[in-house]
Amino acid sequence: MRLNPFDTSKIDVGTTGGRRGGVGKAGGLGCGTIVIAALGYFVFGLDPMQTAGTVEGMQQGQGQMQSAPANEDEAAVCNSNEYARESCNALTSLNETWAARFQEAGMADRFRGPGLRFATAQQFSTGCGTGSVGMGPFYCPADERMYIDVSFYDQLARMAGEGGDFARLYVVAHEYGHHVQTITGISEQIRSAQSQNRGMQNQLQVRMELHADCYAGVWAGRNRNLIEPGDFEEGMNAAAAIGDDALTQGRVSSDNFTHGTSRQRMEALRLGMETGDDDQCDATYLRI
Ligand SMILES: [Zn+2]
Repeated sequence: MRLNPFDTSKIDVGTTGGRRGGVGKAGGLGCGTIVIAALGYFVFGLDPMQTAGTVEGMQQGQGQMQSAPANEDEAAVCNSNEYARESCNALTSLNETWAARFQEAGMADRFRGPGLRFATAQQFSTGCGTGSVGMGPFYCPADERMYIDVSFYDQLARMAGEGGDFARLYVVAHEYGHHVQTITGISEQIRSAQSQNRGMQNQLQVRMELHADCYAGVWAGRNRNLIEPGDFEEGMNAAAAIGDDALTQGRVSSDNFTHGTSRQRMEALRLGMETGDDDQCDATYLRI
C-alpha cells in the first residue's frame, strides 16, 4: 500500500525499553522465563485472554524485565528501522480510518487509538503480564497496546513466500482489529458467551480471530486508492501461511485451532477488503 508518512500527533508509539538479547541489564525484577517456542504462537494474535493466561501461568525462573522508558522521541522510534516506519505509517492510517468510521456510526466519543510498542527488550512488562520477543505480535486489552517484535516480519516473509508490505500491514491491522473489538465491547461479549458455553469456547475464539481478520480487510477496503497491485495476493498469502492448519501442518486437531484455518482466514480478509464494510464482518462472524 502507498501509505502516507506517519504523523506522531495521531499515534501513541514507543518501545518496551532495554536492548534485545541483553538480558540482565537493568531492573532486577524476576519476571519469569517464558518459553514460547511452539510455532503456533507465531501467529499474530496471542489471543488476549490466552496472553494473560499464558504469561501469568508461567512465572517461573529468573529473568530481567524491562519497563517502558518515559518520554521517548516518537519520531525517532518510528524511524529506527524500515519495519517500524511502516508500522507507524499503518497506525496513523488505521487511526484515521477507524476514527472516521466511529464518527459515521455516531460513536465518535467511544473512539480512542491503541498504543504501539516495539519489543526491544528480551522480556518486558505489559498490562497482560510479561511479554517476550519470541511471542510474535499481540494486542493486550488491559493496556490497549499492540506489541510488535519486528523480527517477526522476517519470520512471516519466510512463511508467506516473499511476504511483501501488505503481509506486514495485515498483521498490524489484525491486532488493531482486536483493539476495535475491545473499545466496542465485542470482546467482552465474546468472552461472556465463552464463559456461558464452555463447549463453544474454541469456536468463539476462532470467530473472534476471523472477525479481526475481516476488520483488517475493512481498513484496506476503505483505503482502496492506496492499494497497489499485488497487495491483495500478499494478504492472501499471509492469511494462508498463518492459518492454524498451515502452522501445525495438519498435526493438530481442530479442537486446538484458535485462529481459523488458512481458508477461513483468507475468506475473512477477503470479505473485509472487498466490502470495506465492518457490518458485514459482524453479520458473518458474530452471529451465533
Ligand atoms: Zn488475533
